[in-house]
Amino acid sequence: MSDKIVVSTRPDGQKGLFANAAVQKEEILITYTGPILDHPTRLSIQIDDDKHIEGTEDSNAFLNHSCDANAYVDWGMPCLRARRNIAAGEEITCNYFTTDYELHEKFSCRCGAPRCIGEIKGFKFLSGQEQLELEPWVPEFLKRKLKLESS
Ligand SMILES: [Zn+2]
Repeated sequence: MSDKIVVSTRPDGQKGLFANAAVQKEEILITYTGPILDHPTRLSIQIDDDKHIEGTEDSNAFLNHSCDANAYVDWGMPCLRARRNIAAGEEITCNYFTTDYELHEKFSCRCGAPRCIGEIKGFKFLSGQEQLELEPWVPEFLKRKLKLESS
């Protein structure tokens, strides 16, 4: 995990990852090096059908979801990169719809983004239009699952 990230508590009492220094767009925040599992866990991210990289307690355990996230997974490495410049003190977030076909634990989102999806359940549950908008950020195996509905 980048030394520009610290685990801290959000106003709602949940833990999150926060930048403790300015982060440049495309900077690497977390490198995923965990073992590959055949099933999802609360901390894993999905890289293929039946392939999930296990996360670690000190990094993505506290990486929260936002429907307008400021970080994204670069599937080539894989690693988490800044999607835009991030100011010191901002919470680091990732869009879980871009990392899992079906989430291990579903939840209601209160990220406050103008286009918040609400129920966060996984890429599988998005409309065809919503999936298309996320296509640049998702791994190859999710691109193969795009719904081919006309809208
Ligand atoms: Zn949201």
